[in-house]
Amino acid sequence: MAPKLLMLTAICRLIVIVGLTLNPNDLLLIQTEIQLSFNRTDIQSASSDFGKTTVHFPAAVLHPSSAGDIAKLVKLAYESPHGFAVSARGHGHSINGQSLAADGVVVEMSGGAPAPAPVVSEKLMYVDVWGGELWIDVLKSTLKYGLAPKSWTDYLYLSVGGTISNAGISGQAFNHGPQISNVHEVDVVTGKGEVVTCAEDKNPELFHAVMGGLGQVGIITRARIALEPSPQRVRWIRVLYSNFLGFTHDQEYLISLHGQPSSQKFDYVEGFVIVDGGLINNWRSSFFSPSNPVKISSISSVGNVLYCLEITKNYYHHSDPESIDQEVEALLKKLNYIPASVFTTDLPYVDFLDRVHKAELKLRSKGLWDVPHPWLNLFVPKSRIADFDQGVFKGILGNKTSGPILIYPMNKNKWDERTSVVTPNEDVFYLVALLRSALQNGEEALTLERLSDENRHILNFCKEQKIGIKQYLPHYTSQQEWMEHYGEKWPQIYKRKLEFDPRHILATGQRIFEPSF
Ligand code: FAD
Repeated sequence: MAPKLLMLTAICRLIVIVGLTLNPNDLLLIQTEIQLSFNRTDIQSASSDFGKTTVHFPAAVLHPSSAGDIAKLVKLAYESPHGFAVSARGHGHSINGQSLAADGVVVEMSGGAPAPAPVVSEKLMYVDVWGGELWIDVLKSTLKYGLAPKSWTDYLYLSVGGTISNAGISGQAFNHGPQISNVHEVDVVTGKGEVVTCAEDKNPELFHAVMGGLGQVGIITRARIALEPSPQRVRWIRVLYSNFLGFTHDQEYLISLHGQPSSQKFDYVEGFVIVDGGLINNWRSSFFSPSNPVKISSISSVGNVLYCLEITKNYYHHSDPESIDQEVEALLKKLNYIPASVFTTDLPYVDFLDRVHKAELKLRSKGLWDVPHPWLNLFVPKSRIADFDQGVFKGILGNKTSGPILIYPMNKNKWDERTSVVTPNEDVFYLVALLRSALQNGEEALTLERLSDENRHILNFCKEQKIGIKQYLPHYTSQQEWMEHYGEKWPQIYKRKLEFDPRHILATGQRIFEPSF
């Protein structure tokens, strides 16, 4: 038999075995250009995500080692009369199947084939990284030069392409903006299979479309990320409030200092809500010593809700420890937290940045990491955050949360309006993140069904009360909802899709555009 025919026969057999829906001619063409994997383990792992609530099997998986591999695949999907979906998958840490490609091809960007290594420019203070690089590895590579990225996510085992397809936020965002405000340039494979370099001054429409673009217009294969001299240590402080207005007043005051010299502001401002005295159960708060929860339970609070402000001060080998103490003290003096509720620790910068991974390892050892995660992340405008507190933290949630609830404000002027992200229309808005874990055989309050219902209840409450929220890491199931989400930006989002991914091949798991095949 001729080699081509042999290959076609083998592929047809595969189709029968794993029930592929890719067209055999497409597969034959693809296999002559690049090596796809039909391995069961690969297919299985690309069929779900961290959320564990959605499963869609791809027909095949690509482990690319270059932008060229991805370009060939997307070009074939674009030019094929049949077409098929192609989704980049970073670390698969989405919640609602955003990185899946039902019956299409998942491009495993992280941890597969050897990809280009990070390249640091010490002089220009940036690093060029592969789109699938995990932030922990970006950090390791830049620290060799005494440098580090400026803006982070709380957890570093996420891919660069995955977080900048959303925004990438943490307690530094009030100061440096989200991660997408700290990207100089990207290489992108568009939905037509073209590799395009873009930046503010080079193909700017594509550049802005990709930032927070939910993978809709291209697959990021390289990103150039801004760096700063890396601090060596961190003073990490938590203080408590029983009064929501006092808490948000202080958070807003601290983020208003973003333009001040670094000695007069904190480097990181976050916070969380404690609705069930559940500090012990909260994987984000292992920082409190075991004796502290007792102390906390003795603090009287309105409706049993407490608020914890979390702040840090970075410092360097050459910093004078006394002046750090003085800077921290001067800032703390301006705040109105509960006296004697100050918890302080001091640790290496890397340990601070990598703090959630430690919690992950603990949860994994108890079998509590690989469980369904019905997370809800919202941007809430400053003017309505007190209504949200009243209706959700002190209302809908009752006294069971099943996970940490983060809350922190950000300055809108650190976000570029030209990107694809939408945020509330106020100078300051809050992230509220309900990071919940469902327990299959747990208490009724903690089941997936119950928590998902509660999420719907919260979204309905926001709609009825016209709170003006925007979802972060958004999840919708109809285009009408997406149009409402994007609001005035929808025509631009639509136009960008038409220009850069006209056949709707990319990131179909987001469910924004129906594939046209
Ligand atoms: P994936 O889930 O693999 O992909 C997400 C989307 O991006 C998909 O649509 C995918 O197709 C697309 N995509 C992936 N790679 C690329 C690429 N190279 N080019 C184009 N599109 C691509 N977010 C924050 O902002 N701040 C946090 O502090 C934070 N903490 C988190 C902690 C945990 C434990 C988890 C699970 C998530 C957290 N997130 C946080 C959310 C996280 O940023 C998003 O879920 C992000 O998408 C995860 O990156 P990933 O590499 O796993 O992406």
